[in-house]
Amino acid sequence: MFEVVIVGSGPTSLYTIAALLDRPAGLSITVLEREEMSGTGMPFRPEETDSVLLANIASIEVPPICESLLDWITGLPDAVLSHLGISEDDLHERHFFPRILLGAYLRSQLGRLADLAEERGHRLHIYNSAPVVDVARVAGGYTVTALKEGELLSFSARSVVLATGHVWPEDDPEHGYYGSPWPSVKLHAIPATDIGILGSSLSGIDAALSIACAHGRFEEGGSRYVPGPEAEGLHITLMSRKGLLPEADFWCDLPYLPLEYATP
Ligand SMILES: Cc1cc2nc3c(=O)[nH]c(=O)nc-3n(C[C@H](O)[C@H](O)[C@H](O)COP(=O)(O)OP(=O)(O)OC[C@H]3O[C@@H](n4cnc5c(N)ncnc54)[C@H](O)[C@@H]3O)c2cc1C
Repeated sequence: MFEVVIVGSGPTSLYTIAALLDRPAGLSITVLEREEMSGTGMPFRPEETDSVLLANIASIEVPPICESLLDWITGLPDAVLSHLGISEDDLHERHFFPRILLGAYLRSQLGRLADLAEERGHRLHIYNSAPVVDVARVAGGYTVTALKEGELLSFSARSVVLATGHVWPEDDPEHGYYGSPWPSVKLHAIPATDIGILGSSLSGIDAALSIACAHGRFEEGGSRYVPGPEAEGLHITLMSRKGLLPEADFWCDLPYLPLEYATP
């Protein structure tokens, strides 16, 4: 069998697996994921994201893996949808759903890919809680080493795909400095004080929402903020170099209209 090791199990990994499964039978694909739960992708994990945060990508922009995001959400039980505040009117391809729901969709697609691998005569092994600590070039391929339950496991591979996502800059919480706003739940530790956020686009808005939710709650469909008893002194300033709102392309029609004044 031709052995492929994929490090990480976020969306990049999922689309890679889907493409590999279209190849002739006989691939052995091993996915090594650092976290306990595979498949969700980093920004969409329930333990790292606030439930009020929405994914900034709608179903129309997410290439279907085994099924589209909208089809998957439409198939969820009514009780789950209403618990998440999703009504029938929201079930369309341009609606923005909670991040954790996008994570659950991605995870479900990984399960579907595992079934598909079997059907098509490939092997797909997924290891959770298995951070990769080394990838070494050896004759004929690579040796990938992962740490699993305190032991080092070695995997031989003809090809290795590094799908490990973002690397975050350092934080210095003791001095109130956060190099990145992610995972958003870490911002809950910030006290109700004067807070400056560099940037006012999507991540800046996410950061402001996370801090606001740690000190109060949103009511009336999100239109009214009710500060909690400890919120006195909370003052958030979003600082923007270019303007207040996210980049203009978030407001364009999708699929894009033909360009009128510029060439592609
Ligand atoms: C704050 C933030 C919010 C975002 N929100 C959105 C959004 O709403 N919509 C959108 O489309 N995109 C969003 N993105 C972009 C998003 O990161 C990508 O869409 C997507 O998550 C990238 O997928 P990925 O598989 O490349 O990386 P990731 O999703 O980061 O997945 C990488 C995986 O590799 C694992 N890993 C890392 N190192 C190792 C190791 N050594 N061993 C084993 N496993 C390892 C990680 O645990 C993780 O599961 C956001 C990005 C950020 C930073």
